[in-house]
Amino acid sequence: MARTPHGTAARLAPFGESVFARISRLAAEHGAVNLGQGFPNFDGPQFVKDAGKQAIDAGFGQYARFIGLPEVNRAIAARFKTDQGLEIDPELEITVTSGCTEAIAATMLGLVEPGDEVVLFEPFYDSYPATAAMAGAVVKPVRLEAPHFRLPVEALRQAVTPRTRLILLNTPHNPTGRIFDADELRTVAEIARAADCLVVSDEVYEHLWYARPHTSIATLPGMRERTIVLSSLGKSFSLTGWKVGWAITPPNLSAGIRAAHQFLTFATATPLQRACVEALSAPASYFEELRREYDERRQALLAVLRDAGFDPLTPEGSYFVLAEHARFGHPSDEAFCEHLIRDVGVAAIPCSPFYANRVGADRLVRFAFCKTLDTIRQAGERLKARLHPLAAAGGSC
Ligand code: GLN
Repeated sequence: MARTPHGTAARLAPFGESVFARISRLAAEHGAVNLGQGFPNFDGPQFVKDAGKQAIDAGFGQYARFIGLPEVNRAIAARFKTDQGLEIDPELEITVTSGCTEAIAATMLGLVEPGDEVVLFEPFYDSYPATAAMAGAVVKPVRLEAPHFRLPVEALRQAVTPRTRLILLNTPHNPTGRIFDADELRTVAEIARAADCLVVSDEVYEHLWYARPHTSIATLPGMRERTIVLSSLGKSFSLTGWKVGWAITPPNLSAGIRAAHQFLTFATATPLQRACVEALSAPASYFEELRREYDERRQALLAVLRDAGFDPLTPEGSYFVLAEHARFGHPSDEAFCEHLIRDVGVAAIPCSPFYANRVGADRLVRFAFCKTLDTIRQAGERLKARLHPLAAAGGSC
């Protein structure tokens, strides 16, 4: 492939500015309440911030060991044992990365050959296809259909071929809020085992579940050896800017991820990863309280959206709510979100960038509820006052 006229490598040219950066920029320009990009507008817990400050004062100022500080790898293994019951070797099976987004890139670059196929469920987090492209992989999209977004078993079977290197699962799921249930996880596991391919399981919303507890697919029979579990500190501790993530996978697969990681970011910010030890050792009550607060925000956003004339889809996990925009009379998700930002003063994310196949992909918009109840209420007031469903507006658009 030839370079683009601007000089961007052709493999990255289709991706442009991410939808999150674009919507956050527009939201700031127009003073919109930002329910777009998924970052909390409240601070992380004091005990984790204190641990970060103490690490700075204690002189954790040089490079960390590139696979993670030993005590951090141990804390990640202990947390995974408590939450999922699996024994993990902290030295051989855990790699600390600069956020889960880097772990995704390191996995693609370290384990996928050019021409390998990777199966992605759409709508997907936008870094999946971009990092697959960096690795020269071929994306095989499998669509989760609204409103239930259940695993499409036949479509998945058809998408998996002898060239499939990995199936990328994300549960709890961004943007649909699905938590794949035991049957769905068993089906993915069965298909992966039959095809002898890997499963990359992005579990960054692991502690944000409401409908049913999160289970890692790595716990299913025959899956520990073929699963790469990815997670991070960001969502569980409301510190998305700290960019501390990790990959958990057997030694042979960790070797590939480490081979890429050592030349991507090499090592993750030392004092911030050091604070992970205190964070991950938090008592069960910390995670229960986190869930309780998020459930309250989830209910508040659902109520606000219903009140404004939406019929929002109730998420089972994560911190996103999807809703159709058709009843407001705009031709696409992008047009609707632009109206929302400019004229209503609320930012949401159009979902079409989360699809490889754009046909029928512009019906949904995503609202984030990782925001204070005040912010959610303020967005509600604007939506109620300034957004008009077609019927209420007399059928005109
Ligand atoms: N994960 C965040 C979201 O879905 C965005 C992260 C980013 O901007 N790269 O909103």
